[in-house]
Amino acid sequence: AALNTAGAGSWTATPLVPGAPATGEKIAVTNPADRREVVGHWQASDAATVEKALANAVAAQPAWDATPAASRAALLEHAASLLEARMPAYMAMCTKEAGKTLSDGIAEVREAVDFLRYYALQAREHFAPMALPGPTGEANSLQLAGRGVFVCISPWNFPLAIFLGQIAAALAAGNSVIAKPAEQTNLIGYAAVKLLHEAGIPQDVLQYLPGDGASVGAALTRDPRVAGVCFTGSTETARLINRALASRDAGPIATLIAETGGQNAMIADSSSLPEQVVKDALGSAFTSAGQRCSAARVLLVQDDIADKVIGMLAGAMAELSIGDPGLPSTDVGPVIDEDAKAILVEHAKRMDVEAKPIAKATLGEACEHGTFFAPAAWELHAIAQLDREKFGPALHVVRWKADELDTVIDTINATGYGLTLGIHSRIDATIQRIVSRAKVGNIYVNRNQIGAVVGVQPFGGQGLSGTGPKAGGPHYLPRFATEKTVT
Ligand code: ADP
Repeated sequence: AALNTAGAGSWTATPLVPGAPATGEKIAVTNPADRREVVGHWQASDAATVEKALANAVAAQPAWDATPAASRAALLEHAASLLEARMPAYMAMCTKEAGKTLSDGIAEVREAVDFLRYYALQAREHFAPMALPGPTGEANSLQLAGRGVFVCISPWNFPLAIFLGQIAAALAAGNSVIAKPAEQTNLIGYAAVKLLHEAGIPQDVLQYLPGDGASVGAALTRDPRVAGVCFTGSTETARLINRALASRDAGPIATLIAETGGQNAMIADSSSLPEQVVKDALGSAFTSAGQRCSAARVLLVQDDIADKVIGMLAGAMAELSIGDPGLPSTDVGPVIDEDAKAILVEHAKRMDVEAKPIAKATLGEACEHGTFFAPAAWELHAIAQLDREKFGPALHVVRWKADELDTVIDTINATGYGLTLGIHSRIDATIQRIVSRAKVGNIYVNRNQIGAVVGVQPFGGQGLSGTGPKAGGPHYLPRFATEKTVT
């Protein structure tokens, strides 16, 4: 009741494109925790709206690029303060539209605020002309400028933080931006764009285009007016976007910044503490209903502690509270939609046959009308038994023997994904060995394998997990800009 849910039911999202009349049918959005509850409506962008958005973005970009970086930064900082002041309202949307628990909602809004402030700071730093002294007797400097029109395509799992992070970086660097949210979180995206407009970002500099990836997303990425795309989502979609950008016969050679999926592992050797391994595996695999890019999917545990770890894992899973994400006592909320649930149910069926069930949490009555999937764990023979990433609360355990550490690391690398890796060990040499051999972007040693701190723990992967540079890191913002050498 302390939560400000005023407005739920009447939340709306329409395209935000100056000069384009809103047409198209209104589509109902339901609460993942109770599909009977309509929380709002959204309206998809038609082809004429997409065209108008592109034309507006091209026309608006030069003036925005000519605006001093410090002024652009100040607007983003203003937006950060507005968002911070309205945290409860945005948290409520995260719960009602995306099924986020309260603690996830807090983390989500805080991270979005951090991104806005961090990229503002980065713009102030990077956009100051850099003098390059040299032996030529001439004055040389390097200056950054916007690339042009940037399209930001985001996922539903961080509908505010990733969405605003992408937009903030692209805007801070002097681009006009067309933001395409995930189909599942249009209402949050709309409210976030409205906030930036309120903070002073011009409406033609930042436009909002809700709609299907296959129609609106594809139309944007094949358009020669687009200079860059910032994308977070599946590896398969990143390939489609890459292909669309590459197939254009006109326009700039576009930049693609992509953060994609993972097949994340946590390695625990026999020197690690079983209690901590279980706590951290559980936290990583099941927080946010396992719908984080960083979530551990496979726990690779050395055989002499495996029975103990598996037993404790089953015990801890029985304690999980699954249900209404709006209640402080809830550990695991619903998954994002029916499709996500169906994929997990199929996966569970296959695992029940091909692997050894360890535990399955129980769903309460409160879960009856939502898209819930009970957290589950299985023991496998090998990582190779898993196919592509299943986004949800599913954990897999594989045992390994003392002489198999290198093989374990090789099998992790062989997945081709390289996002996060957890290490639990009290032997320095083991930790160093894993760190140097593993082809992953983010490594978590003897701690929970989760999250990232903007500016401190930049996040992003390699290989099938993304192009880099890392979000929230010092190299991210410059990728949205182009360089001019002035001699
Ligand atoms: P997920 O599997 O997490 O839903 P997707 O890669 O399907 O991830 O979606 C991430 C984002 O990419 C969403 O905003 C979606 O609408 C968009 N998208 C999906 N297909 C395409 C496409 N062909 N072109 C551009 N964007 C797309």
